[in-house]
Amino acid sequence: MVLSSTNSASSNSPMLSMSGQGVVKGITIGKAVVMGASTLEVPHYYVPIKDVNNECDRLLTAIEKASSELLSIIDMLPGDSPLELAPVLDVHRLLLQDPLLIDGSCELIRHHRYNAEWALATQGQALIEQFTSLSDEYMRERGGDIRQVIERVLAVLSGTADDLLANFSTHPDDQPRIVVARDIAPADMLRLRDGRFSAFLTDLGGPTSHTAIVARSMNVPAVVGLGSLRNLVRDGDTLVVDGETGAVFVNPTIQILQQYELLQKQYLQERETLALLVGAKAETLDGINVQLEANIELPEEADKALSSGAQGIGLFRTEFLFMGKKSLPSEEEQYLAYSSVVRTMAGKPVTIRTLDIGSDKTLDNESTVATNPALGLRAVRYCLDQPELFLTQLKAILRASAFGHIKVLIPMITSMQEVHAVFEAVSHAREALLISHPEIKPDFSVGAMVETPAMAIAVEPFAKALDFLSIGTNDLIQYTLAVDRTDPEVSSLYDPTHPSVLRLISNVINVGDRFGIPVSMCGEMAGEAQLTRLLLGLGLKSFSMHYQQILDVKKQVINSHSTELRYALASTLNHASRVDASVLNIHTK
Ligand code: PEP
Ligand code: MG
Repeated sequence: MVLSSTNSASSNSPMLSMSGQGVVKGITIGKAVVMGASTLEVPHYYVPIKDVNNECDRLLTAIEKASSELLSIIDMLPGDSPLELAPVLDVHRLLLQDPLLIDGSCELIRHHRYNAEWALATQGQALIEQFTSLSDEYMRERGGDIRQVIERVLAVLSGTADDLLANFSTHPDDQPRIVVARDIAPADMLRLRDGRFSAFLTDLGGPTSHTAIVARSMNVPAVVGLGSLRNLVRDGDTLVVDGETGAVFVNPTIQILQQYELLQKQYLQERETLALLVGAKAETLDGINVQLEANIELPEEADKALSSGAQGIGLFRTEFLFMGKKSLPSEEEQYLAYSSVVRTMAGKPVTIRTLDIGSDKTLDNESTVATNPALGLRAVRYCLDQPELFLTQLKAILRASAFGHIKVLIPMITSMQEVHAVFEAVSHAREALLISHPEIKPDFSVGAMVETPAMAIAVEPFAKALDFLSIGTNDLIQYTLAVDRTDPEVSSLYDPTHPSVLRLISNVINVGDRFGIPVSMCGEMAGEAQLTRLLLGLGLKSFSMHYQQILDVKKQVINSHSTELRYALASTLNHASRVDASVLNIHTK
């Protein structure tokens, strides 16, 4: 979105300010490197009838070439590549084998005599539109993957596959370079990851787009969803990027430049000071010990969690072992994944969440779409409906528990019947293990996520029956406020500081205290440093978040007096319609 334009400091062009979605924090000031037009505009002509088979072959050869290029990129992925990259590139290879794309395009060539580029772009556009019309944000963004895959084949067809980086040598000065693109395919992202670029800006994409995911793992500031930036920026323009707020300034005025130079300096100093906290104890000014753990999605992330000072894994989202696969992972595969995390964490607790599939995360072989997936057969409901799948996962987790400290976490519980059914499934897994691996003595605790108002309001029986609770605020907020967490059209209503949400959280923590069971929080709210004091004031003593957020939260913990915060909140929580931000010195909406 273009917000405004004024006179710029560095060129004759007026300053433009744009706003997108900041997905990786950090400030970069540098020169624009505009990536080649990424478009499905292609030559259109009719192929003589006698040549249609050859034209089909031309398309199939290009698809095969694009696919083997991707395969060699995957094979040569350097060891320090972002973890998400290989699976994403695999998905792109699978898309290249999709019969809807291939057969549909060949049909257009054979029956309508379209040239290969025209056929592929037409068929691809239809598929993209199908995806982009879906209400689920994650699925909408997959339309972007299809576009990227098609562009790759089109580049092979036109012989321009290697032009992507052609203009990247146009700035010999040592100013940071900022990639401006319509969208960046994961394979191209790999070519951009060698440290030459200090920020990424794209017109398309949202927080779960691959540009965002890969930029996050590279820790390079990024803003996505900028709309039409690419058309408004020229190669070499000066850019200011704020990866936190999503603000982008093109050819900034001298005032903006100076303001952001100062902010950048402050930000870098802050990061340096924060790095000193890695080994520090997370203890409040009044001596309360706070547990700071990490959320991970892949086993390989455990290392990073550990070196960021995580005291354990508070949430291992195991569904990422299941998604994007043709078949379900075997017990052995799962056992290897879980035990590798447990070994890496060397005695620190590892909380493994059982499969949370459904809603915004689906398995490849699931073809049915629920009327309302967020309220459908998801998470524990799905696992109890698929006892074999659940048994396999539980057995793998129990086997891994022999190597360290495992906590089994059950998502989306709403009733005690479900808890009893889970206990039964766990005993089956235990019995099965006695037969298959009698030498293993599993040792683990069982807890549940508090993600539904049903559980948060009447939490006592759950606190009595389970070993621990972990508040999943992402879903708890979604279900309390009736706001789809992935729908950008209602995102302004998604408010973690809504009084109803805070009272539910407070209730769960108080009941946990009363029953003497640990209560943790593993939703996004736990990693938002501006909310740490609020959560300490509610009595929370265990937080789990993305490992990159741990030090920011630790800084807040170290500088807070939890008893004072508890007093400040107790007097307002049950009376005020909003928590008074000045009381806690926090920023509420
Ligand atoms: C949550 O709901 O807060 C949570 C951590 O689970 P997920 O985001 O994986 O649904
Ligand atoms: Mg959840």
